[in-house]
Amino acid sequence: MGLMFSIWTSLPGRKNDAMPIFRIIRSGRYLRIEYLLLFALYAALSGCMQNSVTDELPDEAQRQNVNALLLSATTNPGQKSLEHAKADIASTFGPSKRILLINYASLPDKRDAYAERMKREFAQIGPGYAIESLHATPADQRLAAVQNAEGFYVSGGNTFLLLRELYEDGLVVAVRDRVLQGTPYIGSSAGSNIAGQFIGTTNDFPITDVPTRRALGLMDANFNPHHPDRESEETEFGSRQYKIGEYVAYNHDEVVIGVTNPGMLRIQGNTLSLRGTGAAAYIAYRGKIETTPSVVDGEISRAIESIRQKSQSVHGP
Ligand code: ASP
Repeated sequence: MGLMFSIWTSLPGRKNDAMPIFRIIRSGRYLRIEYLLLFALYAALSGCMQNSVTDELPDEAQRQNVNALLLSATTNPGQKSLEHAKADIASTFGPSKRILLINYASLPDKRDAYAERMKREFAQIGPGYAIESLHATPADQRLAAVQNAEGFYVSGGNTFLLLRELYEDGLVVAVRDRVLQGTPYIGSSAGSNIAGQFIGTTNDFPITDVPTRRALGLMDANFNPHHPDRESEETEFGSRQYKIGEYVAYNHDEVVIGVTNPGMLRIQGNTLSLRGTGAAAYIAYRGKIETTPSVVDGEISRAIESIRQKSQSVHGP
């Protein structure tokens, strides 16, 4: 860009002071303010770009220390909130007790009450948890809160709101980096959506805009929570599969994992497994659907691998 501009200004017949801005700069009258303005513009642009559009998603090697659990739902019908996930939450967090709650998916006026509720629920999961909520942390201390947390719990609500506010706080890269370094991450619903590569398969309305649909990329797939069960919710199953089918037909390289309400996706490095009694997961890629109704370790990763291979033999790489 700079090079093109210098070529343009050095073209025959074109003098640097042809433009008013150069006359002003040459005169020296507004020199400092002009530079300051240019610098501010550059800083603002590079800040936005770093946190959104130019952000690379992590590759396989970078994901090898990920330790995450993605809940489809906070409440599994017929059970109390988080009851179905207690054991898996405790084992994913392990000795980590200082947990940063990120509840930006809740509407702002609901966040205080939600944080109080989560504190009570974590007391049921195990002793010693200290829950700090990002929304209640002063803006200038949020980065430090992310850097010092021993684990993240990202709750459900509206996925667009959640991702937007994380971008606005400039925290997407910070959270991602901590999780890539091995800090445990637990998401529920919207919090699980942003753990995938893109939020394109959320069920939520876009109640607000996001700088980009690109999310944390803790796995090589996108998440779809509350996926209807093929056996017990046949009609809803069909319409969800139709929507996901459209998504993967248009977004050729993306894998989508739909998980039913009792289910949780456990991510250990690049190995994905399905957890949760009675859970099912449906994997879609280029119009192919694979069903994984058991809880064998690594099952989801193997199903993704097989669906990719099948697709390559039909469509080529
Ligand atoms: N609204 C959902 C939740 O967080 C997310 C989704 O369905 O995509 O509960």
